[in-house]
Amino acid sequence: MTIAIDWPLDANRIRRGMLNHTFGMVRRNSDGSRRPHQGWDFEAKPGTPCYAVADGQVVAVRNAGAYGLQVVIRFLFDFDDDGDADPLFAFYAHLSRADVKTGDHVERGQKIGETGNSGNARGMRGADQHLHFELRTVPIAGRGLGNRYSPMAIFRHCPLDAPAERLAA
Ligand SMILES: [Zn+2]
Repeated sequence: MTIAIDWPLDANRIRRGMLNHTFGMVRRNSDGSRRPHQGWDFEAKPGTPCYAVADGQVVAVRNAGAYGLQVVIRFLFDFDDDGDADPLFAFYAHLSRADVKTGDHVERGQKIGETGNSGNARGMRGADQHLHFELRTVPIAGRGLGNRYSPMAIFRHCPLDAPAERLAA
């Protein structure tokens, strides 16, 4: 069973083209110790349209804490390629606007909101403005990398240099 995935923005490039804006223990504290980043940051000036990466259902829209305005979409993807689709959750953060509400069914490529600087992205400027995108196994994940996969699992390609363009764009 092949399930089509598309990118969340029209043009998708990792923030500043830097690995520390990808998934994993990629960031450093001031003392040099490593700390996690839970998703991928895609460069996006506020007001950039965001799209559903797959057909699915909106399971949460909320505005809270470091993530600011968030949309969570449950979708199916054959993650382990065993022929059975597994439920996954696409998580969009720091939005300025949500165009969907909890319970809505969405189609891949449907606009679900717009990027912004909400939560701890407040005050970001220029190329640091971004969509924070996570791939989760549960809708509300805790801190750290738990309950998450690298978005590489669905996108297959990490656009550090040239932006990846949305297939439907
Ligand atoms: Zn981020």
